[in-house]
Amino acid sequence: MVVRQNYDVIFIGGGLAAGLSALLLRENRPELKVLIIEARDIETPELPQTWSFQTLPASIDPSQSKSFSQVRSNWLGRLISKSWTGYEVRFPDLDRRLDIPYHSIRSQDFWDHLKIELSDSLIFGSSVTEVKGTTVTGANGSQWQANRVIDSRGWAKDAFPVAGYQKFVGLNLKLKKPHGLKAPILMDARVEQVDGFRFLYTLPWDELNLLVEDTHYSNDDHLDIPHYRKEILAYAKAQGWEIESIGEMEQGALALPSYSKRNFFSEKLSPHTAQLGVRAGLFHATTGYSIYDAVLGAEQLLNTIHLEADALETSLSRYSDERWEAQEFYRRLNNMLFFAAIPENRYKVLERFYQHDPDLISRFYAGKTSAQDKFRIMSGKPPIAMKQAIYHFFNRSEVQHG
Ligand SMILES: Cc1cc2nc3c(=O)[nH]c(=O)nc-3n(C[C@H](O)[C@H](O)[C@H](O)COP(=O)(O)OP(=O)(O)OC[C@H]3O[C@@H](n4cnc5c(N)ncnc54)[C@H](O)[C@@H]3O)c2cc1C
Repeated sequence: MVVRQNYDVIFIGGGLAAGLSALLLRENRPELKVLIIEARDIETPELPQTWSFQTLPASIDPSQSKSFSQVRSNWLGRLISKSWTGYEVRFPDLDRRLDIPYHSIRSQDFWDHLKIELSDSLIFGSSVTEVKGTTVTGANGSQWQANRVIDSRGWAKDAFPVAGYQKFVGLNLKLKKPHGLKAPILMDARVEQVDGFRFLYTLPWDELNLLVEDTHYSNDDHLDIPHYRKEILAYAKAQGWEIESIGEMEQGALALPSYSKRNFFSEKLSPHTAQLGVRAGLFHATTGYSIYDAVLGAEQLLNTIHLEADALETSLSRYSDERWEAQEFYRRLNNMLFFAAIPENRYKVLERFYQHDPDLISRFYAGKTSAQDKFRIMSGKPPIAMKQAIYHFFNRSEVQHG
């Protein structure tokens, strides 16, 4: 059956970036008719995701992003499932608490919120196959009309040369007795270093429930799920945590770009279609995390939504190009991390990084590393083979793994 309706904005792909953008538009421009078309069927159980971020430091001008100021009371804050006042990192030679507020959004809470706020704007179970002019066509032949179409379909394979992967499996655990943790452990690298830099990541939801992830900065994206599960359970046992039950699992293998001659390129659905989210290269090159960029991208869209389709496409393309260019430092770091460091020694780079002051650390995670920060991160003797580290930091590489 063919359905034709006219919308101001259609998002193709209903993930983090589209959801945040649609919510921000609804809050600020409620008169706009917005639609999100998602391929996933709402009835199909999905692997959950937890999107976490650190508060932007005061040293970053809050006017650069209105959404991150007073995060507990605004539209972004309403999505947060849990906040903590700080977090810990643990390395063989460093045990540190950082008083940087940390927040997590659980995908189930995100979707519950979206279903309330945007119930009239969500279509599930429809994979978009074509965009021609202002017409969007789904696999079942349904069609929709929109003045502006935004492609937010997530990762575009082969959009950039890959240096390595941040890959992980997480288990939600319910314990028999309280774990006693006061704050998340962002990295516990005091574990066997295999398959690259390895650490355990723990989020304490409440006194009995935890998310524990086994994470590797690896040369490949292969996830041996049974092995990861075994390792997570062994880690829990080593912490003295007795497990009552195992809940939902999370998994991911986030591709991290190298510093190379090739630029980011993800093919357009049509010449007039703008892109947002990781489809547009809007993610942190070293962590693979995208929530900051999804929020900043949503603000960018809000500021330019008055433009006609072609002008909007040009403006958002320019914005993505600028963000990609601004991340060159992180891509160079990836070259150093993946090509110069012996995989099992990669943790030393992070151990050294976490000795810096909290503002430098949170600017790094926000993708806002200053020139002075860069100097401080790079100064001193690298904790890995010096000659190779310098070579890979300064030279573009076409090496690809996986
Ligand atoms: C398990 C996991 C945990 C993560 N944790 C964090 C974190 O803590 N912090 C952080 O910042 N980042 C995190 N990330 C990385 C990144 O933020 C996420 O991948 C984020 O979801 C990317 O947002 P997006 O909207 O660009 O793409 P997605 O969220 O992947 O959304 C794209 C959507 O498009 C749909 N789609 C694709 N093709 C079509 C089509 N043809 N028609 C219709 N729909 C289509 C897909 O089904 C998908 O739902 C995590 C990633 C994973 C996998």
